[in-house]
Amino acid sequence: VTTVQQGSAEEERLTIGVDVGGTKIAAAVVDAHGQVRDRVKSATAKDGTAVFEALAAIVTELRDTHDVSGVGVGLPGFVDAGRDELMFAPNLPDLGPRLRQRIQDRVELPVVLENDANAAAWGEFVFGAGHGVDHLLFITVGTGIGGGLVLDGQLCRGAFGVAAEIGHLRLVPDGLPCGCGQCGCWEQYASGSALTRAAARAATSDPRASALVAAVGGDPSLVDGEAVTRAARDGDELARDLLTAMAHHLGVGTAILCGVLDPALVVLGGGVSAVGDLLLRPVQESFQAHLTAHRHRPVAPIRLATLGNDAGLLGAAALARANARAPETLITT
Ligand SMILES: [Zn+2]
Repeated sequence: VTTVQQGSAEEERLTIGVDVGGTKIAAAVVDAHGQVRDRVKSATAKDGTAVFEALAAIVTELRDTHDVSGVGVGLPGFVDAGRDELMFAPNLPDLGPRLRQRIQDRVELPVVLENDANAAAWGEFVFGAGHGVDHLLFITVGTGIGGGLVLDGQLCRGAFGVAAEIGHLRLVPDGLPCGCGQCGCWEQYASGSALTRAAARAATSDPRASALVAAVGGDPSLVDGEAVTRAARDGDELARDLLTAMAHHLGVGTAILCGVLDPALVVLGGGVSAVGDLLLRPVQESFQAHLTAHRHRPVAPIRLATLGNDAGLLGAAALARANARAPETLITT
């Protein structure tokens, strides 16, 4: 049994953040200020054993070339309250039981697991748009919607580790079916996939769609969320309407969440947030219009995330730093 050293030297040491996604695994060596010192990535295999081996290999590679004190791993799924197991990950092959312990045994460093959106929320809190804001709601809008919550400066994980699964808030009773088995989930109305679905429908049914269709080479089936974003930037009226419709739903859901959680700040991240002000402004309008008693209370600002695709990595690395400092996890065998 060895004990990891504490003290100011610990501040100087580096940690590894890993972001396991459905298509790639990205890992980086990160310092205490959130600067990336080195990074590697690898494709996500179809087989669980291969994914585990790839993860272990890239962490080992980084560990062998840097003075590292711990590893944080962000995963696209439910991580249990003890942060030992990946309980449910619909877009990942099965990585098997005792995941944290097995990674730790392989890389011989303290390991902390975390849900990827929680890790990204923590990244934005420690290094990004939410720096120093102790009550923070992070909403990541990509293919779906993920969330993370910082309350009193702590990552709120819930009793069972699965807090802030906000994408499946039932926004529309008896609405569109969702991959989770329910209907009317928020992410069915406000996400990259939702935008692509709305765009595909408009491409064949809206008389204003000709410019949008021409911009993708004339095939209506190629009109997707990205094409809409590009066209909206160029001032296309239909594209702007499609974005505004999505922004409306984003604002409604954000207002519900702020009614419950009363955060000081909402940070909007994920691929869709790259649209920028064109999306942010209508989201803010819809949010204000739907927030209960908004004229009689402070209204939390909504800001765009600043860490981009690195939010999850940086957050995982910061969680690893905190984990390496926590006395109860200092013992490694
Ligand atoms: Zn759902």
